[in-house]
Amino acid sequence: MKIGLISIISIVLLSACLQAQTAFDRHFVEKTMRVDFILAGNNVQQAAYLLELKQEPLWGGGQINLIDSLGYGEYRFTISDFVSMEPLYSRGFCTLFEEWRTTAEAQAVDKAFYQSITFPYPQNKVFFKLEERKKDGTYQALLSIAIDPEDPNISKEQLPQYDVVKVVDGGASANMIDFTFIAEGYKSEEMDKFVADVKRMAAYILSQEPYKTHRNKFNFWAVCSPSDDSGTDNPRGDEWRRTAVNSSFNTFYIDRYLETADVFSIRDIAACAPYDHICVLVNSEKYGGGGIYNHFSIGTADHPMAEQVMLHEIGHGFGGLADEYYTSDVAYQNFFDLKVEPWQPNITTMVNFNAKWKHLIEEGVPVPTPSDKKYEKTTGVFEGGGYVEKGVFRPAINCRMKTNEAKGFCAACQEAIVNMIEFLTD
Ligand SMILES: [Zn+2]
Repeated sequence: MKIGLISIISIVLLSACLQAQTAFDRHFVEKTMRVDFILAGNNVQQAAYLLELKQEPLWGGGQINLIDSLGYGEYRFTISDFVSMEPLYSRGFCTLFEEWRTTAEAQAVDKAFYQSITFPYPQNKVFFKLEERKKDGTYQALLSIAIDPEDPNISKEQLPQYDVVKVVDGGASANMIDFTFIAEGYKSEEMDKFVADVKRMAAYILSQEPYKTHRNKFNFWAVCSPSDDSGTDNPRGDEWRRTAVNSSFNTFYIDRYLETADVFSIRDIAACAPYDHICVLVNSEKYGGGGIYNHFSIGTADHPMAEQVMLHEIGHGFGGLADEYYTSDVAYQNFFDLKVEPWQPNITTMVNFNAKWKHLIEEGVPVPTPSDKKYEKTTGVFEGGGYVEKGVFRPAINCRMKTNEAKGFCAACQEAIVNMIEFLTD
């Protein structure tokens, strides 16, 4: 009888343990699977070509909400169990390539861009599917492959090892959002400056809503990746620098557009620390930056508006937010189709406004809302946004996603960032 009772207790405890095991524990281990590929094409067509699979030693992404419920991004990938085809992990993302496809150059020439995505390392064979979002909002497959985690040709090559400083320590990475800054255009002897620059950026970001309210959910890391030269490429000034991730101003011939296509170097460096989002900090006083959803954010360290710019770029890169400005010079043509509701949470074409910030608009506020000083602090529907003057609407007269002079993010942007924080941590 005694043995029987112990057996029953053991069975009860065992089943409780099994229930407590999460989907992450059942299907993944705390390492990263990285898929390197190429996206190539022009303004009308694109294709994806697999390059290499890699195993990286850390996994900094979340271990909950493995299936994407936000629906952001021009692309998405899904990892499914190879036998049951049950989806195990999915994420949306954007690329520099899809932005390039909207430029005039893409009408004249085919180009290829490096691309890389990561997901937690699977325990068993999985099916990887990459899809592009079509104009009408449906998805079309670009690349489908079986991935066997035991494949001996998955590279386990040692990645570069750089000093890592945990600048803000909120807690264990599995439960936190890790913003990981990597050094670009800092020479070895400038790493004290880099760490101080990251501390300044982190302090600013965490002083701004909604990050301020949720500051206990963030870690900030600084990866001290040295460059041979200080600064970055500035083609208009004929200044060329040998740097860690080959960033450059004048992307798509827009002076302030600071970007890099060298995503493999970025991934190699970022792998030194756990990360949910990669920020490239460029050692320059010049004005500029860029942010691409679930790809990376990039900005300079020393321009007087550098903190505001970095916060804006992280709005794109982490929050999936659109630009709310529409009068500045950009390279894009017809970036938004007015017949389709864009996926970005802070602009609308009014095709499906119910899915956006309608619930934030108080009774009596006219829709569309006139750009009148009286509505300066009101959440409304103001015409102009997403590089388009007519037919695209934004939530506020001013916002961090519109100008550097704005007081902060508008209510719709704040709500979207909170949704992202909760998706990754709750
Ligand atoms: Zn906004």
